Amino acid sequence: MIIIERLIKRRKIKLRTFKKTIIATLALLLSAGNNPVKETKVTKQEKVTTKQKIDQILSNLQKVHASKLGADYLKKSGLDHKKYAYALGSRTYYLVPESMMNTKILGNNTIRDLTSPGPKFEDKTPVLLNKKVLYKYIEMCDALKKMGHNPDNIKITAGHRHPKHNDSEGGAYTSKHITGDALDFDVGDVNTNGTADMEDKLIVYEILNRQVIRSTGGIGKYSWHPHGLHIDVRGYRARWDSFSR
Ligand SMILES: [Zn+2]
Repeated sequence: MIIIERLIKRRKIKLRTFKKTIIATLALLLSAGNNPVKETKVTKQEKVTTKQKIDQILSNLQKVHASKLGADYLKKSGLDHKKYAYALGSRTYYLVPESMMNTKILGNNTIRDLTSPGPKFEDKTPVLLNKKVLYKYIEMCDALKKMGHNPDNIKITAGHRHPKHNDSEGGAYTSKHITGDALDFDVGDVNTNGTADMEDKLIVYEILNRQVIRSTGGIGKYSWHPHGLHIDVRGYRARWDSFSR
């Protein structure tokens, strides 16, 4: 106590003020203790690891035929340009309300992770998601698990992109992201040896190349990038290493 008093003197703080502060703090702590802890309803969604779960989540979303997307949305997304007619065609877009954007759809990755920021239609974000490419991601994760690796250390960086967003990312106008047939992701430390490096990326690449994508689609390897990979379900074999598609 003597030490405290000396300290108070040195700092020129009145003892009375000090005592008042102590009492006020104690009162606050006691009153906080008396308050019942507010119940927070946090429903933590489990990660998505099965095709069935993907189907279930997507079945909760409203759908709209491309021809029903308003002129305003088409203009703002860049879809009104003739060269993107292929991205409309007879396609059906999912309409994602803001309340569902953080819903997990692939592992711990959310719908937002797979969606372009940008214009809305009827207060919802129109998204093209080809289930086939989502399923490929699940197959990749299953294969990694079988080999004793951890697929949770993969982060999706892109899924569907509307043309305006695709342009801003420097994507080709025929990019498989525009039709929701592609995923980009960063491979982390999947072999859990403490570092995320090319070794991890090659483990994933080999699984994709030999088991998952094979001749059904494309894989962008980007050897210059330590983590990035692209997969798509274009329907025929494609491999590249140099630039983004
Ligand atoms: Zn890509």
